[in-house]
Amino acid sequence: MSNLPKIAWIGLGIMGSPMSENLVRAGYQVTGFTLEKEKLDRLAAAGGTAAASIAEAVREADVIITMVPADPQVQAVLLGEDGVIAHARRGATVIDMSSITPQTSVAVARAAAEADKDLAVLDAPVSGGEAGAVEAALSIMAGGERSDFDRVRPVFDALGTTVVLCGPHGAGQTVKAANQLIVAVNLQACAEAVVFLEKSGVDLGAALEVLNGGLAGSTVLTRKKDNFIERDFRPGFRIDLHHKDMGIVTDAARSVGAALPAGAVVAQLVASLRAQGDGGLDHSALLRAVERLSGHQAA
Ligand code: NAD
Repeated sequence: MSNLPKIAWIGLGIMGSPMSENLVRAGYQVTGFTLEKEKLDRLAAAGGTAAASIAEAVREADVIITMVPADPQVQAVLLGEDGVIAHARRGATVIDMSSITPQTSVAVARAAAEADKDLAVLDAPVSGGEAGAVEAALSIMAGGERSDFDRVRPVFDALGTTVVLCGPHGAGQTVKAANQLIVAVNLQACAEAVVFLEKSGVDLGAALEVLNGGLAGSTVLTRKKDNFIERDFRPGFRIDLHHKDMGIVTDAARSVGAALPAGAVVAQLVASLRAQGDGGLDHSALLRAVERLSGHQAA
């Protein structure tokens, strides 16, 4: 029998499925629960165990990881009557890797302390997208106690390559909010450049290749270049989720008196895409908003 901690994984979506499978590959025993049956079947086929409820998934787990869309799902999954905190065994470590508000992460840590079961809690949102999840190359930004972080560090190392404790509960979420601001503004600049280049008659593939080798280069451009060229907007990271994240960073910045002028404009463009029915597309679909503004369509 392996000495590795037993893992429960709640939320097997675009990110949770490949991440949990990386833990299986690293030798961990992983029991998962999610809402879609086919995702449970996928975990079982990869060597994990499918559970019929959160309670069943977490009962024997040493480390419980949640990766669900947003605050309401985190509140239901972690704090609900049938949720993680109610059913976790004494002494378990609970890691929420969803991107949510820092306040909810703090509330989860407080609820866990009040449960009086010696639970440890970390917020640990990620960056790197679906590709980063598949390749176990995520950036993981954590908040919580140093001793809890150090204890589960090997689990993080099986999921990502840049793993940093950023501060107390909620600090991981604050850093993730900054991450989403940077990604959105970068995507918007790339989308504007694409329309400008195409309208100018320059070969887009050649232009993006050379731009990505200079100071204008970025992980965003590397990962999304082909989405722009092919107009392939299958997610990836859905506009709906980035809309949620722009709300988080806008609120968090307002609460500390930080102005985000470029972020505010891009937040409106993300909201506009959503209003036009594009919420299910990848966030590289910001290009569509820019195309509409310029009356442009790819040749
Ligand atoms: P997703 O919608 O693909 O998956 C979410 C999963 O949560 C679904 O499988 C769903 O069944 C599950 N879920 C929801 N409510 C549940 C409940 N009550 N009980 C059990 N399972 C439940 O979302 P995703 O793209 O995997 O994103 C998950 C989180 O990671 C989000 O907070 C997102 O912002 C963040 N994130 C996503 C990406 C990305 O590129 N997709 C990158 C970094 C961070």
